[in-house]
Amino acid sequence: MQANKRSNTKPELIMRQRLREVGLTGYRLQWKVPGRPDIAWPGKKVCLFINGCFWHRCPYCNLPLPKSHVDYWVVKFENNQQRDARNLRELEEAGWKVHVIWECQLKKKTINQTLQELLPQLAVELDKPLSKTPLP
Ligand SMILES: [Zn+2]
Repeated sequence: MQANKRSNTKPELIMRQRLREVGLTGYRLQWKVPGRPDIAWPGKKVCLFINGCFWHRCPYCNLPLPKSHVDYWVVKFENNQQRDARNLRELEEAGWKVHVIWECQLKKKTINQTLQELLPQLAVELDKPLSKTPLP
């Protein structure tokens, strides 16, 4: 997706652990569709992006630009955002259900609320029952 893309970041590992806990398994990592979603169920055309707040310019965090090389960062971030938007559009046009989860939504204080909304929705889309409620 971009040069800084790494797999197995901490938020990704947390998300995968929580998915396994409720029985939403069978996902694939970095599936070969636009944007290489971090987690995907290709058979159901459901995918998750776990976005880093800095690189993808999280709308919740609204992080300030770095203080030096501002022009560079403005262009860089615009490119990132445009690419994300394009990938999302292509996936949706191809019939995928796409969930974008931000790094900050998986912090200690926020993760339970995030998962309480996300997991039941995923369960429906994947046509799988949750093996337990997504509570701590
Ligand atoms: Zn954020």
